[in-house]
Amino acid sequence: MPVDDTPENLNYCMDYCGTCPSLPNPPFPFLYCARGNSEAKVDKKGCRCPECPVYRIYDLKGVDGSPYFCEKGKAP
Ligand code: SF4
Repeated sequence: MPVDDTPENLNYCMDYCGTCPSLPNPPFPFLYCARGNSEAKVDKKGCRCPECPVYRIYDLKGVDGSPYFCEKGKAP
């Protein structure tokens, strides 16, 4: 199920992607799993998506537990 671009999901994302060590801060436009990849360079120092409620609610999958939607784009 595709992730919905809702204010509730954006709030979750701000708590998780909002403290991401791999993106500039703040990491606009957030919600990469719904909106697609970041224009910023992703410097892979960790991915907080697997800890995010959106990841669990939508049963998202990541490679090795580190999906990096900010780099790979929307969750399928
Ligand atoms: S799964 Fe990742 S990209 Fe999606 S809302 Fe959560 S922290 Fe943001």
